[in-house]
Amino acid sequence: MSPIPLKVYITPFAEQGAKEAEKWSCDTAKKALNVVNTIWSKAKVAFVIKDCVIDKPLDMAKSVRNNDQRVLDVLSFRHKPDDFVHIYLVNPIENLSAGGASYQDSDPEPTSFVQWYGNDVANGRAWAHELGHLMSLDHVEIDYSNEKQAAQRSSNLMTKGLSMGRDLTNQQIGSVKGSKLVKRFGA
Ligand SMILES: [Zn+2]
Repeated sequence: MSPIPLKVYITPFAEQGAKEAEKWSCDTAKKALNVVNTIWSKAKVAFVIKDCVIDKPLDMAKSVRNNDQRVLDVLSFRHKPDDFVHIYLVNPIENLSAGGASYQDSDPEPTSFVQWYGNDVANGRAWAHELGHLMSLDHVEIDYSNEKQAAQRSSNLMTKGLSMGRDLTNQQIGSVKGSKLVKRFGA
């Protein structure tokens, strides 16, 4: 299967015209993508950065950035859908427990944003999790009253929030292979 092409937009935030220092770079994006590809190699899916752009700042008040769906919608409007998966890399967002957000099963379009987590491994895990949503996967819910199940599931890539889990079940791999994104780009 050919690698799925990504267009990476590194998007600094601004507030009332004051631009914030951007933590991501095209170099750190490349390093995080190596982690992404290690995680997704279990499903024999690979991604490649076709283009990396430092985008114009997005002026958005800090107080509304913790609405992940709204941030995703605003970012996705900046660039029209084309033949790439659009990945927006942004600075950490206070009070947002999710690592980013994505359109589930790439509907209406294959777009995600991913927060900066301070190191390649954590950045890559968050990015790989978002790609999981684009490839149709939902969250894995953990029932902490069931110790055995909790132990198994907490190591899964699709647990919510900041976790380092990166496992995939056979069922998840099957869903990914049948997803819109893989059918469209991976053939
Ligand atoms: Zn998620």
